[in-house]
Amino acid sequence: MKKRSQAVNVCQAGMVFPFLCLLLAMWAFHLASYSRGQFSPSLRPLLAACIVCSVLAETVLLILRDYLVEISARAYTDVTGVQDKKALEKYLRQLRERSDTLDIGIMMFDLNGLKQINDLYGHDKGDLCIQTFASFLTRTLSSNSFLARFGGDEFVIIQEHTTPDELAAMDARLQTLVADYDRTAILPISYAVGYDVSYRDHYYLMDDLMKIADQKMYRDKAAKKRQELDAAALSVHTDRSIPPITAAALTSKLQTFLNASSRHSTLLLMMDVGDFHLINDAYGYQTGNAVLNAFYDALQAVDRSMTVYRFHADVFVALLDITGWTLDDALEQVQIQNQQIAQTIMETFPVGTFVIDTGACPLSDPAVLPEDYITHANTARRAAKREETHLCCYTDEMARQERQRAEVVHSFRHALECGEFQIYFQPKVGGASGQIESAEVLVRWVRPDGTVWMPGMFVPLLEETGDVVDLDLYVYEKAFQWMSRRRADGQRRVPLALNLSPVHFARPQLLMDAVDALIDRYQVDTDEIVFEITESAYIERPDVVNQLIRAFHKKHIRISMDDFGSGYSSLNTLKDILFDQVKLDRKFVADGLTPAGEIVIQELFHLLKRMDKSIVCEGIETEEVSDFLIREGCDELQGFLYYRPICENDFNALLRQTAPAVEDLYVKEA
Ligand code: C2E
Ligand code: MG
Ligand code: MG
Repeated sequence: MKKRSQAVNVCQAGMVFPFLCLLLAMWAFHLASYSRGQFSPSLRPLLAACIVCSVLAETVLLILRDYLVEISARAYTDVTGVQDKKALEKYLRQLRERSDTLDIGIMMFDLNGLKQINDLYGHDKGDLCIQTFASFLTRTLSSNSFLARFGGDEFVIIQEHTTPDELAAMDARLQTLVADYDRTAILPISYAVGYDVSYRDHYYLMDDLMKIADQKMYRDKAAKKRQELDAAALSVHTDRSIPPITAAALTSKLQTFLNASSRHSTLLLMMDVGDFHLINDAYGYQTGNAVLNAFYDALQAVDRSMTVYRFHADVFVALLDITGWTLDDALEQVQIQNQQIAQTIMETFPVGTFVIDTGACPLSDPAVLPEDYITHANTARRAAKREETHLCCYTDEMARQERQRAEVVHSFRHALECGEFQIYFQPKVGGASGQIESAEVLVRWVRPDGTVWMPGMFVPLLEETGDVVDLDLYVYEKAFQWMSRRRADGQRRVPLALNLSPVHFARPQLLMDAVDALIDRYQVDTDEIVFEITESAYIERPDVVNQLIRAFHKKHIRISMDDFGSGYSSLNTLKDILFDQVKLDRKFVADGLTPAGEIVIQELFHLLKRMDKSIVCEGIETEEVSDFLIREGCDELQGFLYYRPICENDFNALLRQTAPAVEDLYVKEA
């Protein structure tokens, strides 16, 4: 460096000599031109040559000097024109040697994604980004600033006599410059920054200050990277929308495919995203669309995927080549693929859960029409929602169930108006008396063709649709009408147990008001009613159930816990229970009695009796079981051993036949 400046000085000094020569030659030339005869005429060309040589020498020395000046300037700068690492180190050394480092600020910068730019667009474009960024940094500087590039895409500004606010303002200025540039740039710039100041409350030595700024910069980098990934995922996936294919177009494509692909074994898949509306609700439509687009792309990328269509909304159709696979293999592959797709989507988007419900249908029967295949795959897709694996392959049984479900849902209202629902009675027998002491009311749906549908075929479905509320109220009304008629006719009657669906708990007041109105209308003795609420319902909403029980208790209506022990049992529920009665599920005795089973029942009875609950056992089919339960003190028994559920007329007849000789408590003389 020293040598370089000496050379500059020599150049500068050397320039005087040709300059003097030039002046001298010009003066001599002047004399030779105007003094007649004193100088030889041959001297003039010589002097002219001297002038030219002096000018040339002067020019060469001038260029040499500038070159040396530039070289020595470049010694501490790099291609970006700012100071380099050496200069930075020298400056830092000076700062470290100072007695204090008060009010010194350090800002560290790092360009984001430069490697990708280099890899994708070449190093020229990468260099351009660095230079552009360096020029923006230069524009944020003041007279107290020292800017250096100390790594490929890393820069530092050391700002003396500064404050955190000043550094924040410099960063804001830089952000504005970069944002303006990015608006039109083909390769936008993004940077991470970290800074801190060594000030009185917060005093750092230079090395600590560097470290703090560096850590902050890396935190910023990580945060920005995440943001950019999300934004990139969004923009990649939202910038287009996949037009849905109409059912007619899909049918005709499938037909073409079926005609052409006799060589292939193919699986038709119909898929949708479980609870997709929740993604829209929680993250907005833009994210929702992006997720769907990403889902579509992922389906297309699946190995052996032949074609993918968006059917409608979040429902997609795909054809998978399963040549060489068994159906089970194929379904296993679909499940693996689904899990991978779901995983990728959860990693790419801010969604916490992503479930793909898939219906599958092999295109194996040439007699089946394309539109039927579509219906089959759709049926399987809906069934998949009830499966733990979220994958279901179409079967004929599934189609039958689906038709039945459709029939239930669509004919319910009409059936209710036409009185297709009938109440059946299953008598309960007193453990001590052996007589009919009460009965459970069970609904039956008698179809116009005389087929009788059992509750298992329609109650769960009506619970899904919410229609069970109206069905229950209809059943209660029929039961109260029976009571009212029997009372008016002076006939024997017994208390009735009525099933209460958990769907009512969504609107408990509505139920209370409706039951109140029915009780008033039919002048029902409320102590002749027991509502059966399943244990599972209690566990799901204990507060609402207890609130309802309290309201029923005020009206002297008793409550029974139905199906106790059917799978959800916890002894803890018994602790908080407000029920009057516990009805042991038939599972306790379904497989007969075992020594361990007997102990469980004995201890349970003991517990319930100490809690003053009456005990009913259902599903009694053998004398062995009934003898045991009666011996252990069961209050009431219900089961096929005694009576099956019977229609109203049969029940009336039964009550007549079995009327006890002694006056029945519930017979009221007209
Ligand atoms: P649940 O309340 O536990 O009713 C008892 C079920 O057990 C009845 O089936 C009955 O026929 C059956 N059962 C009784 N004794 C025996 C036996 O010894 N062996 C066997 N294997 N079964 C026996 P059902 O009538 O098919 O009713 C099924 C379920 O449907 C009922 O279970 C109840 O949860 C529901 N349900 C019935 N009617 C109504 C209603 O009006 N409203 C509501 N919400 N649910 C109802
Ligand atoms: Mg019941
Ligand atoms: Mg039950």
